[in-house]
Amino acid sequence: MAKIQMTTPLVEMDGDEMTRVIWKMIKDILIEPYIDLKTEYYDLGLEHRNETDDQVTIDSAEATKKYGVAVKCATITPNAARMTEYNLKEMWKSPNGTIRAALDGTVFRTPILVKGIVPYIPTWTKPITIARHAYGDVYKNVEMQVPAGGKAELVYTDKDGNVSRETILDFKTSGIIQGLHNKDDSIASFARACFNYALDLKQDLWFATKDTISKKYDHRFKDIFQEIFDSEYKEKFDEAGIEYFYTLIDDAVARVIRSEGGYIWACKNYDGDVMSDMVATAYGSLAMMTSVLVSPSGVYEYEAAHGTVQRHYYKYLKGESTSTNSVATIFAWSGAFRKRGELDNLPELVKYADCLEKATIQTIEDGVMTGDLYSMSKLENKTKVDTEGFLKAVDERLKAML
Ligand code: NAP
Ligand code: MG
Repeated sequence: MAKIQMTTPLVEMDGDEMTRVIWKMIKDILIEPYIDLKTEYYDLGLEHRNETDDQVTIDSAEATKKYGVAVKCATITPNAARMTEYNLKEMWKSPNGTIRAALDGTVFRTPILVKGIVPYIPTWTKPITIARHAYGDVYKNVEMQVPAGGKAELVYTDKDGNVSRETILDFKTSGIIQGLHNKDDSIASFARACFNYALDLKQDLWFATKDTISKKYDHRFKDIFQEIFDSEYKEKFDEAGIEYFYTLIDDAVARVIRSEGGYIWACKNYDGDVMSDMVATAYGSLAMMTSVLVSPSGVYEYEAAHGTVQRHYYKYLKGESTSTNSVATIFAWSGAFRKRGELDNLPELVKYADCLEKATIQTIEDGVMTGDLYSMSKLENKTKVDTEGFLKAVDERLKAML
């Protein structure tokens, strides 16, 4: 079979630890035998980030803006222990944070459903995609612990020096204060990313805040979403046969639990942080969760939602056998190939992406799976395989499909 040709390179962001090992295996076993792979390669492994003073992360984000589609391996976000382990010059920032800031993007996370893995919420027969606003609120807070007897105020000085102030509290006892903010343009980008993604997936979009209590702050989110929807998206949603639905966050939570899935749930930054972990867990496994960062200008970066699986990597280094789940990383590649294929009008590449996903799901549904799924799967005939064994089993099916 002749290899499938690409026209525009993918931006390839390599990463760390076990996922770096898996990254290479996926390329060797599932990609390069079938595709004449074109990538612009950036090594975001922690050693190379340290060598380049993290410039490589910034360069990879710029390349993503230039080419439009990137695929990223999981990377270490340094902490104190990593400073010593890798002898770092600085505690470099989270690459995901850097890339997200550069692309002004919104992250969409979707579970991969397979027969045999039953969600904790049995009615969830379709995936729920969580869209998390990635700017502001408590993640950019300013906070203070204060003694008794003082007064806390919210003060805003406008560009002409006019001051508006509101009393937060006259503190009779000691206490705590927190200042939060968000920006209209960031909220608007978030809204557009969500509306565009809903149109891409042809799924309803839900959005929820606590606007009854937060009559200015959360209400602003609600208003911006509604204004943008009415002026830019209402007709497109009607044509696609999908809905935009706003409700209170508590009502949303109750409806989500009772739903069958199959929609996108847009969340403010903190809600998205918490709810995405809840949804991922309820669907069964973080290793079965894909993630895509979409910028308002239509740039896409695909990755797995899990980390670098450090514990398995240390086993691998000792020469022990590992059974690490590669599904989310495979789907990061397939998502990127499909998008590249759509943008460059390469039906063969789109077909390859579809087959790669089908072959992966088929493998698990045939009972061949890694240890994490093996312990959860309700299938009667199942076999636990090692990291490489799983990829080879996917390849057998992929070969047959292509
Ligand atoms: P993790 O890599 O997600 O792994 C936590 C645990 O979850 C693993 O020990 C494993 O459980 C299970 N697990 C996760 N992914 C799995 C997979 N693909 N197959 C099988 N089991 C899987 O999180 P972490 O160990 O807390 O973090 C390790 C590093 O990842 C950290 O340095 C962190 O900064 C980084 N991180 C990166 C990203 C990213 O780049 N997007 C996201 C999160 C974390 P068992 O050990 O019980 O088998
Ligand atoms: Mg979280």
